[in-house]
Amino acid sequence: MTEQRIHNFNAGPAALPLPVLKEVQAEFLNYHGSGMSICEISHRSKWFDDVINDAVARARRLLGLDERYAVLFIQGGASLQFAMVPMNFLGPEDTADYVNTGTWATKAIKEAKALGKRVAVVASSEEENFSYIPRAIPFNSGAVYVHLTSNNTIKGTQWAEFPDTGTVPIVADMSSDFLSRPLPMERFGMIYAGAQKNIGPAGVCMVIVRRDLLERKAEGLPTMLRYATYAEKNSLYNTPPCLAIYIVQLVLKWLEETVGGLAAMDEINRRKAKLLYQVIDLSEFYQGTAAADSRSLMNVTFRLPSEALEKKFVAEALDAGLGGLKGHRSVGGCRASIYNATGIEAVETLVDFMKDFEKRNG
Ligand SMILES: *Cc1c(COP(=O)(O)O)cnc(C)c1O
Repeated sequence: MTEQRIHNFNAGPAALPLPVLKEVQAEFLNYHGSGMSICEISHRSKWFDDVINDAVARARRLLGLDERYAVLFIQGGASLQFAMVPMNFLGPEDTADYVNTGTWATKAIKEAKALGKRVAVVASSEEENFSYIPRAIPFNSGAVYVHLTSNNTIKGTQWAEFPDTGTVPIVADMSSDFLSRPLPMERFGMIYAGAQKNIGPAGVCMVIVRRDLLERKAEGLPTMLRYATYAEKNSLYNTPPCLAIYIVQLVLKWLEETVGGLAAMDEINRRKAKLLYQVIDLSEFYQGTAAADSRSLMNVTFRLPSEALEKKFVAEALDAGLGGLKGHRSVGGCRASIYNATGIEAVETLVDFMKDFEKRNG
C-alpha cells in the first residue's frame, strides 16, 4: 500500500500524464456542464462529436497529415490489426513483406499466414534472440506493403530510421512508440498503435491509413473488419470506446500544448534514454540486452549478474517508489519503460537508485 503515486515504468498499460489524469478527475462527474459523465453521454451527441473531432484534428497537426490519410479509432487492440491489415490489403495473388524483430512481429506474421495470405519474411533477427534491427533487407518491389514493428516493447529494440522500401508503403505497428518522435509520413501506408503504451488507456487502437489503400480488398469482409467502415463513419459506425477516446484526446492536447509537439517530445525522450544507457554502459553490473545501434528509446532492457539480484532489484526499487521494472515474463531480466508520460525526474530517480543498488550489491 502506498499513499502516493509512484514513478511508473510499466510496459503497458503504462503511465499517463498527471495533468491528463487530473483533468479527467475534475470533469468526470459533470462533463463540460452537461450534468453527466463522459461515460453517460451519447456517442452521437455534440459533446462526443467534439471529443473525437478534436482528437483527430490534433493527431493530424502533430503528424502533419494531409487529406490522403484517414485517422481511425478501432477496438480489439493492436492484436486485431495483425489480422485486419492482411484481410483488407491482400488478395489471393498478392504478397506482403514482413520483418520479424520480436514477439509482436511474430504474432503479426502468424495472423497473416493463418488467413492463408502470401507472406514473405524478408528479414529476421530471431537467431540472435531479436537483439538487433536487421539492415540491408532484400525487399520485394512487387509487395503490396512492408510490415514492421517500429519499437519492440519486449526485446528493447527500435528502428532508429525506417528502411528504404522504394515505392512499397510501410505498414507499421507503432504500439509502443507512436507519437514519441516526428515521422516521415510519406513512407507509410498505415500506422497502428494500441493506445495503452504511449497515448492513452487500453480499449482503443489508433489507425492512420492512406485512403487509397482502404478499398483494396475489403469487399466481402464483415462490416466491423473493414477499414472503410470506420473511415466513412468517422469511427462512429457503432458505439466506440468513448472514455478511451476522450483520454486519448486529452493526451494529444497535452502533447501539443504542454510538451510542444513531436520534435520537443523526441528531445526529452532522447535525454531520458541516454541517462539510463549511460549507467548501463559505465557498469559491469548492468548489462544491456539490445545491440547498441538498435536500442529502444522507449523500453530499456537490462540484466543483472543473477536472477536473485534481479528479483531483489525489482523489489527494492518498488520500496523506493519505482514500479514496473520487471522484464516481460517471456524474457526475464529488467525493463524500464520510459514512454512519453514518464518524466525526466522519474528517470533521474531510477538512475540514482541503480547506482546505489550497484554500490551495495556489486
Ligand atoms: C502491446 C503491443 C501489442 C499488443 O497490443 P494489444 O493492444 O494488447 O493487442 C502489439 N504490438 C506491440 C508493439 C505492442 O507493444
